[in-house]
Amino acid sequence: MSASSEIHARRVGAVARGVGSTLSSYVDRASGGTLTDVDGREWIDFAAGIAVTNVGNSAPAVVAAVREQVERFTHTCFMVTPYESYVSVCEQLNELTPGDFAKRSALFNSGAEAVENAVKIARYATGRSAVIVFEHGYHGRTNLTMALTAKNMPYKHGFGPFAPEVYRAPMSYPLRDGLTGEQAAARAIDTITTQVGAQNVAAIVIEPIQGEGGFVVPAPGFLPALASWAAANGALFVADEIQTGFCRTGDWFAATHEQVVPDLITTAKGIAGGLPLAAVTGRAEVMDAVHAGGLGGTYGGNPLACAAALASIQTMRDLDLPAAARRIGTVLTDRLSTLADKYPQIAEVRGRGAMIAIELIKPGTLHPDPILTGAVNKACHAAGLLTLTCGTWGNVFRFLPPLVISDEDLDRGLTILERAFDTSAS
Ligand SMILES: *Cc1c(COP(=O)(O)O)cnc(C)c1O
Repeated sequence: MSASSEIHARRVGAVARGVGSTLSSYVDRASGGTLTDVDGREWIDFAAGIAVTNVGNSAPAVVAAVREQVERFTHTCFMVTPYESYVSVCEQLNELTPGDFAKRSALFNSGAEAVENAVKIARYATGRSAVIVFEHGYHGRTNLTMALTAKNMPYKHGFGPFAPEVYRAPMSYPLRDGLTGEQAAARAIDTITTQVGAQNVAAIVIEPIQGEGGFVVPAPGFLPALASWAAANGALFVADEIQTGFCRTGDWFAATHEQVVPDLITTAKGIAGGLPLAAVTGRAEVMDAVHAGGLGGTYGGNPLACAAALASIQTMRDLDLPAAARRIGTVLTDRLSTLADKYPQIAEVRGRGAMIAIELIKPGTLHPDPILTGAVNKACHAAGLLTLTCGTWGNVFRFLPPLVISDEDLDRGLTILERAFDTSAS
């Protein structure tokens, strides 16, 4: 019996079944481009812990910063006895996020918690309650964020009732709706004005590129049109950059690609090299509208996570990871486009920077093919490549390598994927 299967047997008896895992192998160590399990098997990492270890696993600067911090103090609670690193992380966020105006930030533990707080802040600042979200959107698994998330299975099924005053508008999904950004925005705005009422809207919450929903890149013009509608109607434009943020899409934040300046931005995943940290950053007058003591949490902005975030951000600057993401994106797009020429099951290669996906369909239609997606996924895992799927219909491969992955590992990973198509799709 392998060491992984022994642990797995214990897991089945100890860990709640509702918590799933992609692999049933147990990790021993991981680096900038590979993961090794307790039996010494290796996988090339095209997942980065779901867009988290953008600077790599156990990045040297992160390890050093956390080690230094853990020896000084592990926790005091920023709401009780504050410390400098929390302030420094907020300064960095205020500087790096789009928007040439005074900003403030607040730190939390998880992406869902950041999104919840963005909604709290938006409601407080506007005195309104309605929140607009989009088809295929994903914002987390807490009660409010389940309401914001579109997909029922596995995220919402059986977990309701959900929080009220959440309204879902149609998304721009160029492959499937064939609309321009302006047309798709007009359709969404019509839903908002007729079904919710402009004067009731506290916030539009949207991922600039959808993550779990299938790496859906809205048609150009969609995001700017929604942002200007929000500005004209007293609603806040909230960019959920939890998956797109921190260099992933070839810029620090994805809103920048269309010169969209959000009122509030939520971040998490890539922010701290794998330590749990999340943030809301936004216009000073919006963030500071909330009464003193109205925001917080025991662990929010934990000192180890703040040390890791500062080291991660420095690493992103030192290694120019936005440029690295663009380079990875070019390699991925070239190779995947060649694969798409060969396999009519690949309807589209899409994404930005190192956030690239392929959507699988039944040739000649747009019917999703989750069966083939699952088969290729399994073949990749068996051959030593860690891939992830996503999408409302489970028919999208998303590629999210660490931004420090070597050219060699990237090439090896793509070769495994190509062979997996050759065995599963021809
Ligand atoms: C992952 C994710 C979340 C939720 O983050 P957690 O840390 O898992 O709570 C929210 N929004 C987006 C866009 C995400 O990708």
